[in-house]
Amino acid sequence: MTKTKVISVANQKGGVGKSTSVYCIGAGLAMNGRKVLLLDVDPQGDLTKMLGQRKPHDMPLTLANVMNDIVAGIETNGHPEILHHAEGFDYVPANRSLSSVEVGLVNVMSRETVLRQYLDEVKKDYDYVLLDCRPSLGMLVINALSASDYVLIPVQADYLAAEDMTELIGTAQSIRRQINPKLKIGGVFLTMANDTNFRKEIVESVKENYGKNLPVMDTVIPATVRLAEISTADKSIFLHDPKGRAAEAYRNLVREVMNIGEKQRIKSSDLSR
Ligand code: ADP
Ligand code: MG
Repeated sequence: MTKTKVISVANQKGGVGKSTSVYCIGAGLAMNGRKVLLLDVDPQGDLTKMLGQRKPHDMPLTLANVMNDIVAGIETNGHPEILHHAEGFDYVPANRSLSSVEVGLVNVMSRETVLRQYLDEVKKDYDYVLLDCRPSLGMLVINALSASDYVLIPVQADYLAAEDMTELIGTAQSIRRQINPKLKIGGVFLTMANDTNFRKEIVESVKENYGKNLPVMDTVIPATVRLAEISTADKSIFLHDPKGRAAEAYRNLVREVMNIGEKQRIKSSDLSR
């Protein structure tokens, strides 16, 4: 089997389509026959809810338990926290107890690498692991990036969050220097693009603003209610509206994600500019 690729989907701004993209990319990779694990790394549990768990905060076994066990040095038998989704991928749910884990990490040795220790145990069974980050640059996001080979950055088309991106890229660069030399930017992609905010120039200006080395994906995800609907439809866009524009866009994005690391030269930058 080829080596597992671990990919964080991150942007410290909320509501840019991180969770929706993790779900759709994960489902798309599974449809392409890849073995996929999704990790909800956001105490809000949005991804967990999208995956059909109506009450994440009542779930007794989530990523929080797993991280606590690692911090406490408790060995566990098997991985009952890993659930299977009807669309052919696995996932680990999250809920608000992940917040206290994050707060508690401050006093922990190797606090940046707790998630990496977990993935070192489980990732061998997968081609792709996707991490849905919370909207911050706190310790959970640092854990996610420290465990990742790539970071994918969704950016809302009508809000070129220059400062946010610079900060996120800066964080990624220091994680690369200090903790995880493998980390690369897999790509930036535009989400929620509509006729008024989406122009070719936006893609160009992203490219200009963030340097020639920053890979900007060709796919642009349209703004459409069909995507908003999947948070409660219990289906990814590929089942909810398979013929629509959004499914088409995510199919293209999945293709680009499968190319990450294959065409190294074009598709991923090495942060060391
Ligand atoms: P994040 O994880 O970055 O906070 P979400 O994926 O939860 O973002 O998306 C934020 C909100 O926007 C959700 O209600 C979601 O259903 C909706 N949404 C996501 N992507 C799109 C899109 N391309 N078009 C329209 N609505 C979207
Ligand atoms: Mg989210």
